Amino acid sequence: MEIIVSHASIATAESILNQKFPVLDHGFIRLIDYMGGDQRVVDSARISYGEESKGEEQDRKLINYLMRNQHTSPFENVVFQFHIKMPIFVARQWVRHRTGRVSEISARYTHLNYETYLPDTTRFQTQDVKSKQCSSGVPIDEAVAQGLRLEMEDFQRMLGVAYDNYIEKHDMAKELARINLPLATYTEWYWQMDLHNLLHFLKLRLDPHAQLEIREYGKVLADMVRAVAPISYEAFEEHILFAKKFSRTEVDKLKQLYNHLDAEGKQLFFNLGV
Ligand SMILES: Cc1cc2nc3c(=O)[nH]c(=O)nc-3n(C[C@H](O)[C@H](O)[C@H](O)COP(=O)(O)OP(=O)(O)OC[C@H]3O[C@@H](n4cnc5c(N)ncnc54)[C@H](O)[C@@H]3O)c2cc1C
Repeated sequence: MEIIVSHASIATAESILNQKFPVLDHGFIRLIDYMGGDQRVVDSARISYGEESKGEEQDRKLINYLMRNQHTSPFENVVFQFHIKMPIFVARQWVRHRTGRVSEISARYTHLNYETYLPDTTRFQTQDVKSKQCSSGVPIDEAVAQGLRLEMEDFQRMLGVAYDNYIEKHDMAKELARINLPLATYTEWYWQMDLHNLLHFLKLRLDPHAQLEIREYGKVLADMVRAVAPISYEAFEEHILFAKKFSRTEVDKLKQLYNHLDAEGKQLFFNLGV
């Protein structure tokens, strides 16, 4: 019996499949599987008119048109399956993206191989004054940072020893033994996400307002998306990631500015479509 394989493989995606790409000190992202790529976006858009691919240039134009005009469904037809290891505080931020599907390691069943995230001293920065959620970028004095890092390391080690003791020495139920584990503890999950919502995730989590640690994961994910759907990723950078949105008031101000421009400036504005 002939077996027909309908999964069209993408060379750049196949070359990274199942490899662990390191993130932070003990984390990683591994692309387990993917369904579709740029061609799937094109095909699922063209099915609306009963048409097929019209060549690379036309397909690129179509993908850019879809991205620019928020025709999102064709991008939802491309699916990614990842295996990710990250600290729990990153996982807490990650899981807010409700459109993904998650299967996480359970510390009720499993005696975790206790590993924690401990940043370099360069990451030890003061609180930003303007933004309540960000680090300022201003380093804490190196000698002080080294002392704080040692202190954090000691705390983390102590909690790990206690956790192992609860289970190994006292046969404490794992669901209880885990409750003192810090947010720095690494967890693992399988995460399935479609291309549209993955790009939305990247828009939010590559932004400088997102915490540095989740941004590090975002960068690796971005490279993986680029490997699976390069034209879609390029269109995302063009129309969403590096694009700017203007409010009505800002557009009004831009229009006022336009009125003060010379002919060459007006042409420039016109080309921008403002
Ligand atoms: C820099 C930053 C700081 C943040 N700070 C905080 C914080 O302090 N506290 C906090 O709680 N969260 C915080 N968040 C999380 C944020 O509020 C969002 O929950 C998160 O970014 C997920 O975004 P989303 O809802 O667009 O994505 P998704 O959940 O993936 O949703 C994608 C799209 O589907 C829609 N959608 C999904 N589920 C539903 C549903 N059930 N009903 C209707 N529409 C749905 C969404 O509206 C969205 O348009 C922060 C996020 C960022 C990036």
